[in-house]
Amino acid sequence: MKRNSYLITMLLLLGLMMLTTSGCNSTREVNSNADQIKVAVTILPQAELVNKIGGEQVAVSVLVPPGVDPHTYELSPGQLKELSETALYIRIGHIDFEKNWMNRIAGTNKDMVIIDSSQSIEIINGDPHIWLSPRLAKIQAENIARALQEADPEHQQYYADRLQNLQKELDQLDSDIGEKLSPLKGSKFLVFHPSWGYFARDYGLEEIAIERDGKEPTAKELAELLSWAKTEGIKVIFASPQHSTREAEAVARELGGEVVIIDPLAGDYFPNLKKVADTMATALK
Ligand SMILES: [Zn+2]
Repeated sequence: MKRNSYLITMLLLLGLMMLTTSGCNSTREVNSNADQIKVAVTILPQAELVNKIGGEQVAVSVLVPPGVDPHTYELSPGQLKELSETALYIRIGHIDFEKNWMNRIAGTNKDMVIIDSSQSIEIINGDPHIWLSPRLAKIQAENIARALQEADPEHQQYYADRLQNLQKELDQLDSDIGEKLSPLKGSKFLVFHPSWGYFARDYGLEEIAIERDGKEPTAKELAELLSWAKTEGIKVIFASPQHSTREAEAVARELGGEVVIIDPLAGDYFPNLKKVADTMATALK
């Protein structure tokens, strides 16, 4: 009997030691797998913001694939399945895809928390492209950080610290772009799809879009736009890689100008917006 209980104690101790050691060794792996919060976002630039705040505590998936128009994208059955295992869905706020799919998305997973990253941002005329303003991205970042802190209170300070770093980076980006575009203050620019309204507002520019409410303009609207562009001496039409440039090219020919591509949905948020500012500075000079 005595011998037996001694053996049991030894075995228990051994087991305990093994548990502790394996716990220590596998912390990182646990963090990069089972312990990570599964977060879904709508578009690539959002993933960049979530990753900057969430770091190794989050695993982010993007619903709208690269190169695809998020206004009209339709979810695949595989993505709906993936959403059934997602803890947190951070929506941009007002993009058509979200409006069309939110009921289905919410229905796939009743436990999933859905957060609107546009909370406390003033949306102008239903324009969903808030992420293209670094100033509005700062508000989105706050909303994202709060959502992560609520989902994972254990790492509150971690998220708070990383949010602070991100805010500094966004301030720097804002002032870099502002500096680059300040000689162009008051300029009007022509775009095919109206992605750059908030961006234009922040830097004292004015965006004129060829598309009207997501649709091609009527012949009359187009004729008016062309005659306006001619009197303004506009030679550049900005277009995005997610849309066909056929119409933009036709307009450019008409104006004797050219189509210049700028990307509203690139995943490398910071370098991309700097590149956009450079491209605009050159094109509108
Ligand atoms: Zn858009």
